[in-house]
Amino acid sequence: MLFIIDHRHSAENCPAGVCKPNWDFAVKMNDSAKACGVQVIEGFVDLRGHRMYFAVDAAYEQQVYDFAKPLMGVGRLQVVPVIRWSAIVESVKRSKVREGSP
Ligand SMILES: [Zn+2]
Repeated sequence: MLFIIDHRHSAENCPAGVCKPNWDFAVKMNDSAKACGVQVIEGFVDLRGHRMYFAVDAAYEQQVYDFAKPLMGVGRLQVVPVIRWSAIVESVKRSKVREGSP
């Protein structure tokens, strides 16, 4: 299943190292993904807004929360189950073919 992690933190607790590089945190997140069986598809960092978004693939939602534990220590987060946009587009195309419309 795919999930989006939406995380926000204060500038003082910035794990992305905007104020000073924090390589340990990046390694901690990478190790956490391996330990929890979560595949990180990609992460996105809003440097100005101090928000981070991760697109991850995991069998269970609990794995995502386990993976995100380092983020919980520095701010708040929300985990949202999602599906790929491309899957919706494909579904619409298939239904149009069935209906016989172009
Ligand atoms: Zn930040």
